[in-house]
Parts: sequence; C-alpha cells; structure tokens
Amino acid sequence: MTDTNEQLAKALNAVIDPQSGKGLIDSGRSSAPKFADGAATVILDVTGIPEVRRELIEVDIKRALGAIEGVDDVRIGMTSTRKGRRLIAVGSGKGGVGKSTLSANLAIALARRGMNVGIIDADIYGPSLPRLLDAEDSKPTANEDRQMIPVRTQYGVSMLSMGQLVKPGQAIAWRGPMAANAMGQMIDADWGETDTFVLDLPPGTGDVQLTMVQKYKPTGAVIVSTPQDLALIDARRAIHFFEEADVPIIGLVENMAGYKCPECGAVSDPFGTGGAEAAAKEMGYDFLGRIPLDIGIRTSSDEGLPPAATGGPGADAFNGVAGKLADWLDPPKG
Ligand code: ADP
Repeated sequence: MTDTNEQLAKALNAVIDPQSGKGLIDSGRSSAPKFADGAATVILDVTGIPEVRRELIEVDIKRALGAIEGVDDVRIGMTSTRKGRRLIAVGSGKGGVGKSTLSANLAIALARRGMNVGIIDADIYGPSLPRLLDAEDSKPTANEDRQMIPVRTQYGVSMLSMGQLVKPGQAIAWRGPMAANAMGQMIDADWGETDTFVLDLPPGTGDVQLTMVQKYKPTGAVIVSTPQDLALIDARRAIHFFEEADVPIIGLVENMAGYKCPECGAVSDPFGTGGAEAAAKEMGYDFLGRIPLDIGIRTSSDEGLPPAATGGPGADAFNGVAGKLADWLDPPKG
C-alpha cells in the first residue's frame, strides 16, 4: 500500500506545472494522491492555467498514474481559487461622446486604487486606446497555447485593442461576427492575474454587444453621454439594450459638460449641463459624475498622457467616477 502511495506521489510530481515549472506537488497545485480500492484520486488547483493546458495535464496525470501497478482508475478533480473576473462594459448610444477617453482613465484610476486591471478595446469604428495609453508601438505576443498576451502599458493596466490586431481602418470593414469573434479572443487572452476588465465597446448596439452579453456577460455597464438631448436619447437606447440582457446598469456619466475657458477660467455650457443626471434620476439609475469639456483633456489624450495618470486636466472628475465604480464593485463595509 505504502509503496503504491509513494509511487503515485512521485509520478504526480513528475508532471510539470506549466506556470511554475515545478512538479505538481512541489508547486502546491496538489497534495499526494489518495489511493483506495484500485482508484487514485488527485485534487488539482488549476488556477491561472488555460483550458487547453488543463486537458493536457489531465492526460499526463492519467497516463503517469495509470501506469502504476494496482491502479485501475485515476480520478482527477480540478478546483480554481481564482476570484471571478469582473467585466465592466463602457457603452454609449453614439460615437464621439468620449467613451474611449473615459474607459482609459477609469482603467488607470482603478489600477491606481490597487486593482489588477485590463482594458479591452472592442471599438471597431475607432480603436483609440493604443494612442490614449501611449502603446501604439507595442504589439501583443502569443503564448504557446496561442492565446494572446496583452500589452503592459506604462500606466499600470494591461491592454488589448482591435487597433493592434488589424491595420487602421480595416476592422470597420469586418462583418459583425468577425468583430465579435475578435472581441472573444481578446477576452479569452492570457491575462495572468488581471481580474477587473474595462471593456470599451463600439457605440450603439450591434453584433459585438450582442455576443458580449450572450457569451461574456458583463458584471455591469457604465453608460456615457454628452448632455445634449439627442445624445441622451441614444444613451437611453443603449441602457435599454443592457436592461433587456439583464446586465446591471452601474450608472451614467456625463462627458463634455460645461466648457472651461482656458483663457479666463469661466465655465459656459455649450451643450447644456445636467441632462445625463436628470435622465439617470428619471430612469432610477445612479449618476456617476460629470467630466468637463476641457481642451486639455483632448490634447493630453492625443499625446498619450491620460489625466488619471498624470493628474492633468479632468483628473479629479475621472477619479471621482472611478471611486463610485470601485464602490460598486467592492462595496465599502459598514
Ligand atoms: P468615443 O470613444 O465615444 O468615440 P473619444 O473618447 O474617442 O470618444 O473622444 C472623442 C474626442 O473627444 C477625442 O478627440 C477626445 O480627446 C475628445 N474628448 C473626449 N472627452 C473630452 C472632454 N471631456 N473634453 C474635451 N475633449 C474630450
């Protein structure tokens, strides 16, 4: 008996954990197999190991342990201690309202609060995150299981963008299913420890959004709108889309609210202000905050200097929204 137990432990430890490069017992992924009535039982912690690899490990364990005399059956139980990943969808009714700018700054602000944040740019119409995060020259690599390895930006968030997968202007010609497929590949990439994702969606409600809510149900959605009535009508449409898909609406953000004159500092309201807050109230959702229309936000974003990282224009506003989002994700105790 003891002999078989020793042989089993040795055989199990001869199978290598792909992450640490050590044996499955030495790496802490498993304790010694249990053996009774000809059956060996292995409980394996597969946290962080991609699906395809898990299957290979299973085959290896069965082969190694099954070869030991007296072992008729090898049973493998897999556990994962990984916290559930959280997917925050950032959506808007139409383009050009600052959805990508907000996504980038929210991701950075959450990372600065200590979260492991990844950002996924699924906006086929204008993948702008590589520029916003000053990572235009970085390309994702692939691991041996052909999963993409995201780019680590200098701002403490990992990123994958449609803009890195295709030539500029090409993605827009994709049929919906191709774009949806690309989004899936980005979500299922090798994200390592990353567990909180900001998903910059294309504007409106197309195939990418449909695939997302069906296959990768977001934990919640943030809707961004400018204050004009027309933008708000579109934003409501986006909200209804998420409602119908049972995706919780985390709240609304108003962008380009109130123009701060760079010369005199006076704030004027070219688009009006407060429309999104009123709309949120009327629909019974939280209002997460207002980002001012500030030329400095545009210029610093264009230069790949996100205000949430540099403390530049609008930083307080972005951080305020991120704080509410963080509280929604991890409600403060008490
Ligand atoms: P979307 O992702 O909704 O298409 P973007 O984030 O790409 O929108 O923003 C569109 C343009 O507006 C960009 O040039 C961006 O720099 C600018 N912009 C976004 N928010 C603001 C703001 N609060 N103040 C000034 N310019 C902004």
